[in-house]
Amino acid sequence: MTQLVLPGMLDVHVHLREPGAAHKEDIISGTAAALAGGVIGVLDMPNNAAPIVDQERFAAKRELFRRKALCDYGLFLGFDGHNLAPLLEVGGQAAGLKLYLDETFGDLTTREPAALAQVFEAWPGPGPIAIHAESRSIPIALALARRYGQALHVCHVPHPADLLRIEEARQAGVRVTCEVTPHHLFLSAEAVSRLGAYAQMKPPLVSPAEVALFWQRLDWVDVIASDHAPHTREEKESAAPPPGVPGLETTLPLLLRAVDEGRLTLERTIALTYTNPLRVYHLRPPEDAAVEVELAERYRLPAGGYFTRCGWSPFAGEWALGRVERVRLRGRVVYAQGRVLVEPGYGQELQRATCHISSS
Ligand SMILES: [Zn+2]
Repeated sequence: MTQLVLPGMLDVHVHLREPGAAHKEDIISGTAAALAGGVIGVLDMPNNAAPIVDQERFAAKRELFRRKALCDYGLFLGFDGHNLAPLLEVGGQAAGLKLYLDETFGDLTTREPAALAQVFEAWPGPGPIAIHAESRSIPIALALARRYGQALHVCHVPHPADLLRIEEARQAGVRVTCEVTPHHLFLSAEAVSRLGAYAQMKPPLVSPAEVALFWQRLDWVDVIASDHAPHTREEKESAAPPPGVPGLETTLPLLLRAVDEGRLTLERTIALTYTNPLRVYHLRPPEDAAVEVELAERYRLPAGGYFTRCGWSPFAGEWALGRVERVRLRGRVVYAQGRVLVEPGYGQELQRATCHISSS
């Protein structure tokens, strides 16, 4: 049995659903899922039932995380097309600003050009403007980032062709980074015929040929983030199933399988899940953190037994490698052999880095 020690992952794209939809997930179950997946810090999105678009909601959500989080965290602010003043007030405390240029779960979509220009001009940073965008909207955001010199992060790149546009913009001097999800790398549209709503998310899964192109162009990708977006089985089996799948507990064993298959190096895996997330969001690495993984034999990911409240995974049956044995965070063993060993509130807000972290 071989053991691997990693610095831990930072998942920069999760939806832990609290406040507002704790029947799907809450901060305790979601951060427990993070630790079980080897994730020591998460950045939580602002599309809660009542979107996080002002000082009051941001402060209230921050207090919930302060009391409940088991792993470290940062919180996004959202833009609803009107809340420019609060963004300027709270911007510095947020991990970043999330803009929804196209529709998904929640109600934060903004496409009005004047409002978008205003926010790209005004956002104070230091976190980037992170966008949810379909392929047609990515050039709009790239043009705005270029015009206003803003740092832009393209969340869950929808299609491998978009990576070409992003790389071209980067070569032309635009401050742009991007992320791809594990479901776009390890599942294809074929999964939708097998799993139905359980394989539906936004942006949707792509064809096997396009999945292969994602892998070919992975050098242009900065970050792999789960877009952990749990919904209950009942919701997924309803007449109008909401988009989104859980992923916090399955990213690492899927990536280690890819390392085993020679599709990825271990160094690159660490860059995509730890070093680059720190760089993109200007974060300081959590102190004294490590994740011990037992490699042993390949296995198929289980259908259940997860910490996430939704209790299912679109990756059930997929080949995986490695099981998280132990997680250390700030000097304490926070997770070992399937059990969380710290009390809610042990997690801390991720702090800004004071110096620049070099890219890899
Ligand atoms: Zn998302």
